[in-house]
Amino acid sequence: MLLMNDFHAEPSDLTQDIMVSVQRVIESGWYILGNELKLFEQEWAEHCGTDYCIGVGNGMDAIEIILRSLDIGSGDEVITTPNTAFATVLAIIRAGATPVLADIDEKTGLLRKESAVRCISSKTKAILLVHLYGQVLDVEEWAQICTDHSIYLIEDCAQSHQSIWNGKHAGNFGIAGAYSFYPTKNLGGFGDSGAIITQNSELADKAQKLRNYGQNQRYHHPLIGLNSRLDEVQAAILRVRMKWLSIFTNRRREIANRYLNTINSPYLQLLSEPVQPLSHVYHLFVLRSEFRTLIQGYLQQHEIQSFIHYPIPIHKQESCLQVRTDPNGLPNSESFANTCFSIPCHPQLTDEQVMYISDVLNDFRPN
Ligand SMILES: *Cc1c(COP(=O)(O)O)cnc(C)c1O
Repeated sequence: MLLMNDFHAEPSDLTQDIMVSVQRVIESGWYILGNELKLFEQEWAEHCGTDYCIGVGNGMDAIEIILRSLDIGSGDEVITTPNTAFATVLAIIRAGATPVLADIDEKTGLLRKESAVRCISSKTKAILLVHLYGQVLDVEEWAQICTDHSIYLIEDCAQSHQSIWNGKHAGNFGIAGAYSFYPTKNLGGFGDSGAIITQNSELADKAQKLRNYGQNQRYHHPLIGLNSRLDEVQAAILRVRMKWLSIFTNRRREIANRYLNTINSPYLQLLSEPVQPLSHVYHLFVLRSEFRTLIQGYLQQHEIQSFIHYPIPIHKQESCLQVRTDPNGLPNSESFANTCFSIPCHPQLTDEQVMYISDVLNDFRPN
């Protein structure tokens, strides 16, 4: 079976280095908020070209802590996309704020500016922009919209490690960026973890307290915080995996380009190609088809795994039926969710496997 993610196929050098780093942490006798985290935070901040990095428990907490650091909570609205991991919206709700959902562009799956602007009200405090599937697009325009309306731009970078727009990494275009290092992300640990990046020292300072019970020094709690720390074992693993990230990102782009150049079935629609060479890191390679169910069954028969990201838009989730949306509705969001599916594009795929997947897709017939 060709899997969506295949950790067993990773280079043995990488696995070896991870084993060594984990052993180092175990032998150090220090497991939470230690040197590995400090080094990882420095290295990730430098990698992203930003001033501050604060390691946290996971990507969802990273968003919640950014919102809470900005005092966005009860009575405040945050605009985001209905086609995302549920965690994006759950983080807004966990912060005590109200999510508002705007429509997307069907050619990219990304939030539409016109729709987001239509959703802005006197209660709006931020736009939470998700760089879905790994693509950063038109971020300066998003930043301008936020400046014009005196609201914050916050970036959900959980899928966009190393995605670069006009020379800057994702997470540097607004007040802060939230990263997830869930195992299947482009940079992932062997467990949960996440990080906030920012150039704002006040936000960095507050986030650092919030992640650790709101404490500034031991047993002193100026803030009501949470427990959301990135542990030493994960930090050590991430430091090793970070060294491989450029190689893996390049490989993802290579695979995506092969798909873009070879998939030509009339029963499939490709999403639009990135407008800058480095602006997409292909966390996921997504296609659309009216024949999705048939195609997924057919892929399964040919030993190719495929997933749907995401089958149910947020406003159709049982827990979110009351959420405010664009007054014009979310038609693109719904048709996208009904037709999209993701095929394997992880960095361990060989050229032969990529060609096989592409050939199988091109041979699909709906009858
Ligand atoms: C994975 C993901 C998250 C949540 O990250 P966790 O580390 O699983 O909490 C948030 N937003 C998006 C877009 C994601 O893909």
